[in-house]
Amino acid sequence: MHSKKSGFRRSLGTRLVWATLGFCVAFTLLAVAVRTYSAWKEAWTKMNADLRLVEQVYRQTLSKAIWELDREALLAHMNSAAQVNAVGRITLKIYSQTRSTDVIERVAPGWQPSTLAPVRRLDLVYTPFPGGEERVGELTLAGDERVLWARLRGEILNIVMAQLLQSLLLAGWIMLMFSRTVTVFIQQIARHLGQLTPDTMHQPLRLARNPQLQDELTLLESGVNQLQDKLVGYLARQHQYENELGEHRDHLADMVQARTAELEHLAQAQQLVLRLSNRLIHATHETFDACQRDCLVEVARRLGAHHVLWIVPVEGQAAFQCYAEWRSDQVDGDGHHVLALEGLTQVPARLAREELLFFFSPADMRQSLEPREAEIFLSLAVGANALALLRGDEEDYGILYFGKPVGQDDWPPEQRALLSMTVQMLLHSVRHNVQLTQISQTQNALRQANRQLEVLSRHDALTGLLNRRHFDEVKLDEYQRSLRSGQPLSLLICDIDYFKAYNDHYGHARGDQCLQAVALAMQTAITRVGDVLARIGGEEFVVLLPATSVAAAWAVAERVRLAVLDLQLPHAKSDRGPWVTISIGLAQLQPAVHADFDALFHAADQSLYRAKEIGRNTVVSSQLAFEPP
Ligand code: GH3
Ligand code: MG
Ligand code: MG
Repeated sequence: MHSKKSGFRRSLGTRLVWATLGFCVAFTLLAVAVRTYSAWKEAWTKMNADLRLVEQVYRQTLSKAIWELDREALLAHMNSAAQVNAVGRITLKIYSQTRSTDVIERVAPGWQPSTLAPVRRLDLVYTPFPGGEERVGELTLAGDERVLWARLRGEILNIVMAQLLQSLLLAGWIMLMFSRTVTVFIQQIARHLGQLTPDTMHQPLRLARNPQLQDELTLLESGVNQLQDKLVGYLARQHQYENELGEHRDHLADMVQARTAELEHLAQAQQLVLRLSNRLIHATHETFDACQRDCLVEVARRLGAHHVLWIVPVEGQAAFQCYAEWRSDQVDGDGHHVLALEGLTQVPARLAREELLFFFSPADMRQSLEPREAEIFLSLAVGANALALLRGDEEDYGILYFGKPVGQDDWPPEQRALLSMTVQMLLHSVRHNVQLTQISQTQNALRQANRQLEVLSRHDALTGLLNRRHFDEVKLDEYQRSLRSGQPLSLLICDIDYFKAYNDHYGHARGDQCLQAVALAMQTAITRVGDVLARIGGEEFVVLLPATSVAAAWAVAERVRLAVLDLQLPHAKSDRGPWVTISIGLAQLQPAVHADFDALFHAADQSLYRAKEIGRNTVVSSQLAFEPP
C-alpha cells in the first residue's frame, strides 16, 4: 500500500517533467554561458569597430590640426570624439621637435581603466606634400567597459528568456505527449489488471487508441492478453482437475464404504466359520456327522441358499450318494432331487480343476459343465448356485451343492469368501475326523492291549490264576483292612504232595497239566467273591480269605483239598494213595502275634510244614486252640 501511495505521489509524467526541467535548466545555463561568451565577443568586436571608425574619422582631422597647431580645432575634435558612446578615454600625444611631448586626454564621466575593453593605439601621420610623411602624434582610444556590460546585459536577458521559454515549452510538450501516448494507457492497463477476476479473465485488454499503432504498448497489451489466455487455460485446467479430484474423492469414498461393508461381511463370515470350526473341533467321534450337517445348514442360511446338498463318492463305484441334505422349505422330503444326481458318475472336469464354481444362471452352468452334467445339476437349480469340490489328500470327500431360490442370482464377494472358507473348514474337519477315528481305533487297540497286559501281568500264564505279584499287592491291602475293621483274615498255603516225584515220573509236560487241573479244581472250590486264589510258586498256591475266621477257613481248606482229591489224578509215586493230593497250612491273623503280613505267612507256612510232617493230604492250622470238626 505504501509503495502504491508513494508511487502515485509522483507519477511517471511528473518525474519526466522534472527530469526535463532539470535538463533544460542545465542546458539553459550552458547555452547562456556559450551565448554570453559569444555576445561578449560580439560586443567587444563592435566596440573595437566603433573605436576604429573613430580612428578613421578623426585621424586626418587631428593630424592636420596638430600639423597646423590649431589647438582649438584639436580640442573640438577631441571633445567630439570623446562623445562617441564606445569611447571611455581618448588620449592624444603630440610630438614636437621643440617641446616635450604634449598630452591631451578626454575621459568619459565615471570611466575606470579596464583590461576587458579594447584599447587602440594609432600613430598620427601628416603628409604636407606628396611623398613627405611626418609622424605628428599618437592617438590612444580605450573602450568603455560599462558599454560592453550594458550591451551584454540586454543580450543575456534575451538569451535567458528565450531559453527558459523554450525549456518550459519542451517540458510541457513532452509531458503532454507522454501523458497522451503512455500514461493514460498505463493507467488503463492498471485498471484492467486491477479489475481482473476469474470471471472477467476472458475479456481481453483493448487499449483505447489507434489499433494500427505498433509500439511497446502494443507489446505490453499483447503480453497482458497472452498472460490472460494462459491464466484462463490454467484456471480451466485447474477447474477440470478440481472436478476430477472431486469425482475421484466421491468415487474413493464410495469404494471405501463398499470395501468397509465388504470387510464387515467378511469378518462376520469369518466369525461364523470360526464358531462352526470350534464346534466341529469339540465334536466327538459320535456327534461329528450331525455337527457337520448343522454347520452346513448354518452356512446355507447365511448364504441365502434354500438348498444344500453334500454327495460323496460310493466306494468302488462310479457313482455318488447323499451324505447330507437340507432344504429351507423341507416340503419335498422324498429325496427325488437326490435321485436326480444318480446319473452323475464323476466329478465334473471343470470342478476338478477349479474346486469352487459359482453360477449365476442356468446358461452360466451350461457353459461351464458338460451338457449331461449341467442338466443333472440344473434339475436342482432355480436361482444362482455353486459347486464345491471337497478334495482330500488321497480321495475326494465329495461335492457340495448350494442352490439359491428364484430371483437370487448373485454371489457377492463375502459370500464367495464364506463358501471358500466353509470348504476349507469342512476339509479340515473331515481330515480331523479321519484322524480322530484313527486315533480312536488306535486308542481302543491300545486299551485292549493294555488290558491284556494287565491281565498277563497279574495272572499266571500256566494256570490262569492270579500270580504272586498280584497277591503281593492284595495281601497288604487286606492286612490293613483287617487291622482297621477288626475283621478276621485267614491265609491258606497249599502245596502238591510229592510233586517232584510226579514230574520225574510223568515228565514236565504232564506236571504242567497236573498243575492246571489242580488250579481249576481249587478255583471251583473257592466261590466267595473277595477270596483271593493265587499261584505263588512252582506247585504252591495261596488262598487269602478276608473276613473269614479260622473255622470257616478250615472248611474252605477242606473243600479245596477234597476238590483236588476228587480229580483223581493218578500219582504212582505218592505214599498217600493212587491220586494226586495236596497239603494245606492254615493261619488266622492275630494282630497281637503277627507284627506284619509276613509273620502271618510264616505261620501258615509252618502249618503247611506240619501237614507235610504228619503225613500230607491234610489241613493243619497254626491256631493251637482250634479243634478241627
Ligand atoms: P512234598 O510232598 O514234600 O511237597 O514233596 P515235593 O516233591 O512236592 O517237593 P517240593 O514241593 O520241593 O517239589 C517241588 C517240585 O515241583 C519241584 C519241581 O520239579 C516241581 N515244579 C515246580 N514248578 C513246576 C512247574 O511249573 N511245572 C512242573 N511240571 N513242575 C514244577
Ligand atoms: Mg513245594
Ligand atoms: Mg510239594
